[in-house]
Amino acid sequence: MNKQIIGLLGGFCMGLMVGVCADESDQGLFIPEVLSLGVNALADFKADRPDFTSDNKEFVETVDREIEMLRSRYGRISIDLEDEDVKALAPELANFICGGVQKVAEHAKIKKPGIKLQLQDSNLQYNAAARQARQINILTKNTYLVNQATGQKTLVNTETETDVDKISDIEVGAELVRLFVWRRDRPVLMAAILGHEVGHIVFEHQDEAVVNEHEADLFAAKLLKKKTDLIVALDMLSLAAHVYNSLKSIVTDKKLVYDLVRAAVNRVVMDVPDLGELGTATSHAYVATAVFNALEKADKKIIVSGNWEDAVFEVYRAVKRACTVPSAVFGVPSEEIQALCLEMERKATYLQSFKLTHPTPFNRRALIEAISKK
Ligand SMILES: [Zn+2]
Repeated sequence: MNKQIIGLLGGFCMGLMVGVCADESDQGLFIPEVLSLGVNALADFKADRPDFTSDNKEFVETVDREIEMLRSRYGRISIDLEDEDVKALAPELANFICGGVQKVAEHAKIKKPGIKLQLQDSNLQYNAAARQARQINILTKNTYLVNQATGQKTLVNTETETDVDKISDIEVGAELVRLFVWRRDRPVLMAAILGHEVGHIVFEHQDEAVVNEHEADLFAAKLLKKKTDLIVALDMLSLAAHVYNSLKSIVTDKKLVYDLVRAAVNRVVMDVPDLGELGTATSHAYVATAVFNALEKADKKIIVSGNWEDAVFEVYRAVKRACTVPSAVFGVPSEEIQALCLEMERKATYLQSFKLTHPTPFNRRALIEAISKK
């Protein structure tokens, strides 16, 4: 509630400042610049968050700097966040993630898994994964008889014991972390995703399957005070991955793609917390197609213009439109939407396997909401 009031005041002051500048001096440039986009929405958008950054700026800058250093030192591989050199380079980041894993593991009563950070440029950046292996330790105990006179040893018995160690690790994408640190409730969102991965470890899931996803979701939801935080975390990752996939063909600078995804997705989730129609879509291809079409219809010149504020706003506007007015995004009769989605599945092959192994946004949300009411 407090936050809303502050937001409103901020908006008011900003509007006033622009007005004063335009009336009193030649700085009236502000007005045509805003109007050139043809919307009051940009003014509202800026007023709400004038610097286009998170309200959590200091921590965001620290994490960004640390990830940047890790990327330049280790390239694009997956790194061990508990390694001493890594911890020395990125102490805040390591502390944030490892601390989260430690807490979730304690809650789940499992041995703390290893913790990896994925730096590779791909949509794995908005992903987390759990891996596990069984290490079989063979212990051999030999018993000898020693001849007292000669000192010679004779093997009389061999006993073999086997012991199985479960080794697990959790890997998170660096961009997943950068996406979440934007928000004040970052520990909760992180715990939701880590809880899901720990769920896979607890149930010893060996392959990807819809039923395993549901099981991991249930496990994570039980660990959380507010079970619907899991929906927020999963929605943010799924939207970010779809925006990333579409945006990377428009913008060549990878760093800019990641930055645009983060700012725009965070802002959309603030304005449309349930992602509108996309949050309850009955297929991932539908979400991917809506986001793709919305960005296709956006002004790409603005997105690549180099003007950060205009670019974020253009991406935000397109993605918000995908959530709130998908029919306008598709712009074709409803019977043709199905064909567009099939076409998207053909182009983006990951969607074909994804639909066999992951629940639809509708099913996932329905299950989590059902248990959150209990
Ligand atoms: Zn999963």
